[in-house]
Amino acid sequence: MSLDSLNIVPPNLMSLDDILPQEPLLMMGAGPVPIPARVARANSLVVNHLGGAMAKVIEQVKVMAQYVFQTRSPWVMGVAGPGSAAMEMAAANLIEPGDKVLSISNGFFSNRMALMAERVGADLIELDIEVKSAADPSLVRAAIERHNPKVLTMVHGETSNTVCNIHLKEIASIAKEYGCLVIVDAVCTLSTMPLKMDEWQIDAVITGGQKGLSSIPGVSLLAFSEAAWQRIQERETQVVQWCLDAKLATNFWHNDGYHYTAPVSGIMALHEALKLVCEETLEARFNRHLRCSKALQEGIQSMGLALFVPEASRLNSVIGICIPEGLTATDICHHISHKYRVEIAGSFGQPVVRIGQMGEQCREHNLFRALHAFGSSMRDLGVKVDLPTGMAQLEVYLQKKHQFVL
Ligand SMILES: *Cc1c(COP(=O)(O)O)cnc(C)c1O
Repeated sequence: MSLDSLNIVPPNLMSLDDILPQEPLLMMGAGPVPIPARVARANSLVVNHLGGAMAKVIEQVKVMAQYVFQTRSPWVMGVAGPGSAAMEMAAANLIEPGDKVLSISNGFFSNRMALMAERVGADLIELDIEVKSAADPSLVRAAIERHNPKVLTMVHGETSNTVCNIHLKEIASIAKEYGCLVIVDAVCTLSTMPLKMDEWQIDAVITGGQKGLSSIPGVSLLAFSEAAWQRIQERETQVVQWCLDAKLATNFWHNDGYHYTAPVSGIMALHEALKLVCEETLEARFNRHLRCSKALQEGIQSMGLALFVPEASRLNSVIGICIPEGLTATDICHHISHKYRVEIAGSFGQPVVRIGQMGEQCREHNLFRALHAFGSSMRDLGVKVDLPTGMAQLEVYLQKKHQFVL
C-alpha cells in the first residue's frame, strides 16, 4: 500500500478560540454550573491513577463524600460518567432480573430511573405523580402494600420541572417498614438542600459533578448503605455491566487497586469541590442556597412573572418560570444568551424556562446579573415586566435577616 492511497487528508478547522465566545457566558441554566478556580486548576492535572498521591486523594474524597451524603457507610464510590451513570450503577447493582421495583415518577429524570430499572430486568411498577406535585406518602404506602417491591426509586429534586419531593424522608421510612431498599437521585439537591442518608434510611444516593457540587461533568459519586451492600453481596446473578459493577469498583475505591483507569483529573476536581463544601459547611451552604433562591424567586415574581410550581412542592435548586404567552423557551434562551451573555435553560416537556440555583450560581452578583438579563430579555421580547421593582425586591430580600428552619 502506498501513501498515496491515504486520500483522507487532515481537516483544517477552527481553533477553540474561534469557537468559544471571547467573553464567557454566565451559566445560569440547569447544569453544568460555573466552577471555582480551584476546581478548574485541579481538573488540569493528570497523575498516576495507582500511585500514592492518588490513593491519598481517593481516601479524602471518600471521607468528604461521607460528610456530604451524611453517612457513615464506607461504601462510597465514584464512577467515570455522568449522573446518569451513577443512577445506572445503583440500579444495576441493587436490582436483579425479575425483582419488583416501584419507581416514583415525577417527570423526566425520575422516569429515566424507571427505564434503567426495566433494562436490568426489573418487574417494574411505575407510580406517576401529578405534575407540579410532590409524591404523596399515602399513595406510596398503598403502592408498596399492593406490590411488595424489593426496591423503590425516586428523585429528590426533579430538575426537569422544578418539583421537590418534600416527603422523601417519610417515604423512605415507609419503604423500610416493608424491607424495601430506597434509591434516591440527588443529582441537583446534594449539597444544596438537606438530605441525610443515614438518618433518613436511604440505601443508595447518587449525584453528578456538574450541579450542586459545582465540579465538572463526567465524574459522579454514589453511596450505598450497609443494607444495600448486603443485598449486593447476596446477588444470585452477576452485574451485567462490567464497568458499573460496584464490587469491582471497590478494587479502586477501597483497595488501592485497578478496576479501570480512573478519571484522575475529574477526581482531582471533585476533591477540590468537596473540600470547598467542607470548608463552607453544609449548614451554611444550605442557607446560602435557600436565601439566594428565595430572593431570586421574589425578584421574578415582583417583576410580574409567575413561577411554575406552587410554593409547597417547589424546588429551590432550579427555578421554573412560566413562559409568557406568545413566546417559546427557545426565543427567550436565545435572546438572553446573545444579548446579555447569560445562559438559562428551557425544559423537558413543560412550558417553562429554568434558572439554576446550584453551587456557584448562588452568589449574589450572579443573581443580580441573571435577573437583570432575564427581565431585560422579557422587555425586549415585548412582555410587560416591572424590571426596577424586580431588581429592588431582590435586594430587599437579600438585606432582610432570615432564620430558615432546615
Ligand atoms: C441532571 C440530572 C440527571 C442527569 O445527570 P447527567 O449528568 O446529565 O447524566 C439526573 N437526575 C437529575 C435530578 C438531574 O438533575
